[in-house]
Amino acid sequence: MKTQYDILIIGSGAGGGTLAYKLADSGKKILVLERGGYIPTEKENWESEAVFGAQKYMTEELWLDKDNKTFRPGQHYNVGGNTKVYGAALFRMRESDYNEVIHHNGISPKWPISYTDLKPYYLEAEKLYNVHGERGTDPTEPSEESPYPLPPLPNEPRIQEVFDDLKAYGLHPFPCPIGVDLEKEKQARAPYVLDRFDGFPDPTEHKSDAHVNALRKALEHENVTLMINAKVTKLITDPSGTEVKEVHAEHEGDLLRLKADLVVLSCGAINSAALLLKSANDKCPNGLANSSDMVGRNYMFHTNSALMAISKEPNSTKFGKTFAMNDYYLNSGDADFDFPLGHIQMLGKSDEGQIKAQSPVPAPGFTFEWIAKHAVDFWLATEDLPQMGNRITLQNGQIKITYSHSNVESHDRLKKKLKSALEHSSKFSHFFPRNVYFSKDMGISAVAHQNGTVRFGDNPKSSTLDIYCRSHDIKNLFVVDGSFFVSSSAVNPSLTIIANALRVGDYIKNEIL
Ligand SMILES: Cc1cc2nc3c(=O)[nH]c(=O)nc-3n(C[C@H](O)[C@H](O)[C@H](O)COP(=O)(O)OP(=O)(O)OC[C@H]3O[C@@H](n4cnc5c(N)ncnc54)[C@H](O)[C@@H]3O)c2cc1C
Repeated sequence: MKTQYDILIIGSGAGGGTLAYKLADSGKKILVLERGGYIPTEKENWESEAVFGAQKYMTEELWLDKDNKTFRPGQHYNVGGNTKVYGAALFRMRESDYNEVIHHNGISPKWPISYTDLKPYYLEAEKLYNVHGERGTDPTEPSEESPYPLPPLPNEPRIQEVFDDLKAYGLHPFPCPIGVDLEKEKQARAPYVLDRFDGFPDPTEHKSDAHVNALRKALEHENVTLMINAKVTKLITDPSGTEVKEVHAEHEGDLLRLKADLVVLSCGAINSAALLLKSANDKCPNGLANSSDMVGRNYMFHTNSALMAISKEPNSTKFGKTFAMNDYYLNSGDADFDFPLGHIQMLGKSDEGQIKAQSPVPAPGFTFEWIAKHAVDFWLATEDLPQMGNRITLQNGQIKITYSHSNVESHDRLKKKLKSALEHSSKFSHFFPRNVYFSKDMGISAVAHQNGTVRFGDNPKSSTLDIYCRSHDIKNLFVVDGSFFVSSSAVNPSLTIIANALRVGDYIKNEIL
């Protein structure tokens, strides 16, 4: 078996899969190492009981919280990474997110690059991932002259009513940018009805993900190879600790020792930090690329919650994730609270199995079936601030997350704002006679939006990576998953991870290869 490559990419998710796509036409020998296999195409893909109840596609790994209590993280190890189950809401960060922003609980720091640096790559990313949307409808959206590659997804009737009610209340709902390929139907295929999306793998492969939209295209090139079920266990450096010489991976019971001129880590923010820490050696006793002691620190994942608003009238929507609101993104609008609150987005329509799995006890007087039929689902996210003490460490080889939330009051206010807006609608007062809401805040196992653990920056003392996501300490090591984030913003992270991987890919092609 071949063991020498030009480039090794570790992880095939949003960052790694996209980078493989970008570098594929370089002609360089590229190996993508992915610890998981393919998610099987099977009927359980779209069954809530299997996906949310049995958590069939999640890892069975157990991690530790700050009190050393074990928990099972919402982490997916498979080709395409977490994008295989994500909701494909593909947002650009706001221009202000690249600057310092003062929040209730502290400062969201400035990024070492500006929105302008990522702007062309955001557009490239939107095209690659088939994003539907409408420019000019979101008051906070960053500048862009080109339209979205595809038109906005229409609201189903009940969602359109909610949209209209919120607009009448004075808010500015806008079409949620979603990555999905509905064009396939134009080629004489049966129509595709959007339905199971957030949290579900898509057996029809209409949903845009890193496997279908990026990695598969990379693998059309002869010089690119994917090895599945290949878990990288250690990076070995030269004696000076400044170059990765070997990558060790477990594959079908064997230990592989692979070599490459360039090694790109993209295991997701938690696993990339863990792998660097695990690879400590005599020269780098605190872990690789960690002379700054920043590896694993500033872990962020959003202060977020899912909210179901229950109305008397049934909601027969199949695909509810068609609009979002940023009215409180930059500021609460309250004289006594001059801070940002966050982002509001519709969630995929919940069903009985999903609700049962996520809230085991129904509210008194309601059955799961009734709730499911009447729920309108929202997702709310507030920026999670970077904190040095929020960190990934290893305890006897096991991943440990020490974490405490930030901006909790801002998040509570965001929830109240949404509830008030819904209550104020006359239609909603009909639909919400008892104003029953169930709100579930995301705990530590909700690692979906993990970022920030291997941050980039100009200063090697306060960052791990340079502005092109190359290690300050190890010249042949790059990191392109969500770990490079300096702040989390309050929008979903994937489009920024994808756009950045395209940017880093250009840099590698133009400056290194
Ligand atoms: C249910 C859910 C819904 C979401 N919805 C959205 C959404 O609507 N919009 C959005 O923007 N984001 C969403 N996200 C988040 C999004 O999926 C992540 O931000 C994104 O996938 C992160 O990309 P990444 O490259 O950092 O990591 P990942 O995509 O997770 O990829 C990491 C890859 O590395 C592999 N790997 C890990 N360790 C090793 C190792 N040691 N050796 C080899 N391979 C390894 C993993 O198996 C995985 O394939 C959602 C996530 C979840 C779970």
